[in-house]
Amino acid sequence: MKVASNEKNNSGAAAKNCCEGTDKGRQTTFELARFLCHVAYHLPDDVKNRIVEMAGRETNEASKKTYLCMLENLRLAHELSRPLCQDTGIPTFYVKAGADWPHLGILKGVIEEASAEAFALAPLRPNAVDPFTNKNTGNNAGPCSPYIDWEIVPGDEAEITVYLAGGGCSLPGFAAVLTPGEGIEKAKQLIIDKILEKGVNACPPLIIGVGIGASADVAAKLSKKALLRLVGSSSQGGAAELEKELFEALNRLGIGPGGIGGTESVLGVNVIAGVRHPATFAVALSTGCWGTRRGTVRLDRDLNMTFPDHKEFS
Ligand code: SF4
Repeated sequence: MKVASNEKNNSGAAAKNCCEGTDKGRQTTFELARFLCHVAYHLPDDVKNRIVEMAGRETNEASKKTYLCMLENLRLAHELSRPLCQDTGIPTFYVKAGADWPHLGILKGVIEEASAEAFALAPLRPNAVDPFTNKNTGNNAGPCSPYIDWEIVPGDEAEITVYLAGGGCSLPGFAAVLTPGEGIEKAKQLIIDKILEKGVNACPPLIIGVGIGASADVAAKLSKKALLRLVGSSSQGGAAELEKELFEALNRLGIGPGGIGGTESVLGVNVIAGVRHPATFAVALSTGCWGTRRGTVRLDRDLNMTFPDHKEFS
């Protein structure tokens, strides 16, 4: 991997608070900041491989050229060590921390400081805007930013997934609480209608994340977590059937890469279904664009890091 000179910069500023006196903690902050820059410059392996496959299958000449432009964009972003899209999103983090992992106390500080460091190093675009005054905070930090979702799981390792949530690709998102009588059929219709209405704003081909639960908040969270699952992975049972059905239906819309028409419109459909209440059927949609930038870091109990969906990063 070609590493940008800015990726190599010393991150002493980032490490000065949360891990003071802990060399390994400082190093973790630095490596995480460097990885965030890398995520802004590179698609994860599964998304990139799927785009290459789709480019090979596309028969419409203009659509094929659009895929080739995307791949050239990726090549240049890598070669020049530059963000692959001008919208570098709002960094959001999904943490699965093992109950026996010994570094939970420093992790929030490490993530916040690595995020601030990557903002300056990458550089990332300032995208955090006060919803009432419309003023940009200027540094991507603010209330609930960076947003961190916490999950405690068995084990002595931790996993951090960062997702750079762009504006256009977040536009089709919604959550709705339906009646059980409306149920799955209405849910499918809402999703298809929403992609017809706003899918083109989200820079297709799209990753479709669907969550089902008893209430809007649970469905929304599951839909975002579904989006983080690998493209090409599959659920079980009814969720797997829904993935297949939506995948076929959404591809039949003919939106194509960049919205110019084409054989395929979605990179993949991922569904996570929880239980519903007898009186409710909550469904939510989250969407990712062709430039879905997410990356996962695994940390063992000695803070050694591995990068399962960015194997080229070291
Ligand atoms: S939808 Fe994705 S590729 Fe399009 S501008 Fe937004 S972040 Fe960039």
